[in-house]
Amino acid sequence: MREFEKLKKSILNDYPRLGLEDNFKFACHPGVPCFNDCCADINIFLTPYDIIRMKNHLNISSNEFLEKYTLSPIDENQRHPVIMLKMNDDDKKKCPFVTDKGCSIYSDRPWSCRMYPLGLASPSESIKNEGEFYFLMRDDFCKGFEEDGEWTIKGWIGDQGIEPYDDAGKLFKEISLHPFFDSGKSLSPQKIEMLYMVCYDIDRFREFLFESSFFDRFEVDEKTKEQIKNDDVELFGFGVKWLKFSLFGEKTIEIKDEAVKTAKMKKK
Ligand code: SF4
Ligand code: SF4
Repeated sequence: MREFEKLKKSILNDYPRLGLEDNFKFACHPGVPCFNDCCADINIFLTPYDIIRMKNHLNISSNEFLEKYTLSPIDENQRHPVIMLKMNDDDKKKCPFVTDKGCSIYSDRPWSCRMYPLGLASPSESIKNEGEFYFLMRDDFCKGFEEDGEWTIKGWIGDQGIEPYDDAGKLFKEISLHPFFDSGKSLSPQKIEMLYMVCYDIDRFREFLFESSFFDRFEVDEKTKEQIKNDDVELFGFGVKWLKFSLFGEKTIEIKDEAVKTAKMKKK
């Protein structure tokens, strides 16, 4: 993780900042001499939406996916849990999803695999006058830069189907880049566990909602209940509201009057 922090600093200081209309030359296809070389020994951080797409592609629960395919490295400077794709335990440390023909989960591959060779830097709120910017990762092993192919950043993002990933990413940033973390405060272990469950173990979050007294205590209309029962992305959106309420004390969820009365009675 220290290496990651070093890389982050270098990206913010040294990499040229690219905007949506900037161009780059690149193409990737099964004919490139480096085909699949980028799918081994690599740090891939997974977003909540990545996990939803991948576990649904594999038709397994979020919990099974996390157990089988991910690591959650701990670092003292970390503000909240992060999840990484676990490479195979072999000489080449290949991605568990790479095959001779390419990515076996291509239609649901993670955000960073879609974006490559582009990266997106999101400086935290504490860095003044800095917005998000794109940058190019010019890895020596990648021969895609020698191929014919001209892209704008905007064109690449459209071609790679990034939009739903970015929509869910904006929601995630409401938590991961929350000003609470810039104030130097940290979350209790229980709150970190809640954040982990909502962001990464979405099927367990659904169980938490539907198999507890949650709906007796909080106002949630029937339409929303139905949506979050059947749709992981809707559920994650609701989860972000719940996290803002339960972690940061924002008024994003309403407590039922009866629950307030019962709490007052118990206090007496
Ligand atoms: S998920 Fe697919 S594209 Fe991404 S590293 Fe693995 S095999 Fe490659
Ligand atoms: S290394 Fe670059 S060109 Fe080669 S397969 Fe990966 S992304 Fe494509």
